[in-house]
Amino acid sequence: MLLTISTTATPATDLGFLLHKHPDRVQEFSQSFGTARVFYPEADESRCTAALMLEVDPVALVRSRGRNSPDFSLGQYVNDRPYAASSLLAVALGDVFRTARAGRCNARPELAEGALPLEIAIPALPCRGGPDLARRLFEPLGWECEALAVPLDENFPEWGDSRYVSLRLRGSLRLADALNHLYVLLPVLDDGKHYWIAPDEVDKLIRAGEGWLAAHPERTLITRRYLGRRRALERTAFARLAEVGDETEEALEPRIEEEKERSVPLNTLRREAVVRTLEELGAASVIDLGCGSGQLIGALLAVPRFARITGVDVSTLALTIAARKLRLERMPDAKRARLTLFQGALTYTDPRFSGYDAAVLMEVVEHVDPPRLAALERVVFGQARPVHVIVTTPNAEYNVHYEFLTGMRHPDHRFEWTREEFTAWATATAELYGYRVTFTPIGEEDPEHGAPTQMGVFTRDH
Ligand code: SAH
Repeated sequence: MLLTISTTATPATDLGFLLHKHPDRVQEFSQSFGTARVFYPEADESRCTAALMLEVDPVALVRSRGRNSPDFSLGQYVNDRPYAASSLLAVALGDVFRTARAGRCNARPELAEGALPLEIAIPALPCRGGPDLARRLFEPLGWECEALAVPLDENFPEWGDSRYVSLRLRGSLRLADALNHLYVLLPVLDDGKHYWIAPDEVDKLIRAGEGWLAAHPERTLITRRYLGRRRALERTAFARLAEVGDETEEALEPRIEEEKERSVPLNTLRREAVVRTLEELGAASVIDLGCGSGQLIGALLAVPRFARITGVDVSTLALTIAARKLRLERMPDAKRARLTLFQGALTYTDPRFSGYDAAVLMEVVEHVDPPRLAALERVVFGQARPVHVIVTTPNAEYNVHYEFLTGMRHPDHRFEWTREEFTAWATATAELYGYRVTFTPIGEEDPEHGAPTQMGVFTRDH
């Protein structure tokens, strides 16, 4: 298995710094399934190529598996695995170039930050879906993608193409991004996993996909294949991708038919209800806790009376999307001066949450694990202690109206409360921390099941 990475940046030999592998030596890295070697077939000022070659030891491969792992079979000895780039190559790449993949380069930090002219070649890549799929996966990421089907046998063209392509990618990208694209997409193209898929695969995918996977047009296929079509893991990954913004939520959330058809979408009704309530309360400073992609913030910025607006989220990716959607870079100074965004978790004490007229938790509590709720209550009501707190959350009773819904409205919801449950939680929390609470339904109200969203408005006693 062979993969080469070339650059024509000047001086091209900087590639050695970035990969943390010296161009003059052949270096070996032992893997549980064989040996990876890194060497430089060419290394001069104008062009430098690093090669990663992986030699798979089929015996080691089998020994490193448990008996119950899915690919425990003689097949491994006799198939084409050792010769084709595959998920094993991705694993080796992930390991050998770990630091480069994280975008770190202490010797030359500016180098790791910038885009380089890169060319990546993989002569034999198993590719289920053919050259066309390779293009669909790489082109949206800014690569010029040349993928040629390798014929089964050059002497017998009538036999047609093999499932291999010869892949060549060209583009101007950060090296870390390039390595992460390969780390995720090589096994996706191969579509046959070689090692047991552990729960931490979801973490690996989210980490390697940071900044590009959530918005990729083929994210569903990528996630499904990367996780070996294991449903439970897939759901977790989709939920976590969805957390980063409603663009992805729209695509991944089970379609809630009624919401789609309603003329005013529920999230608009919810946002309007919250803004109206904040106006009625006379709030001038508002902190949006769990602001997601910044929908509420956008609406608040449009109203001059909200002089100080802060958005907080635990997900940095959500904040990045919010900054983009709010066009932070091009925002006029006067507006920009009213807004602060920062990363933070609602379950940890944070002095930055204090000093606001009102805090909003719009569709956030249901994303918090029940054992962590008490910490959130303490942080928001006990420590931040704004004059008002607005909490919205789904009303589980209303779910009977969602014909196609199985389970909860969003795969990341840890719970969905009935009206009685929400009332009980809110009343107890208010009592504990010295607040009064009133309840308002949001959305079309059903006489029996209530409205789709419930809102609690808390006001501090003193
Ligand atoms: N309020 C937004 C987003 C709701 S989605 C809206 O209504 O559109 C829930 C958001 O809460 C996600 O962006 C998620 O990252 C964030 N979140 C979940 N748990 C959190 C925590 N413990 N601390 C901070 N944010 C959290």
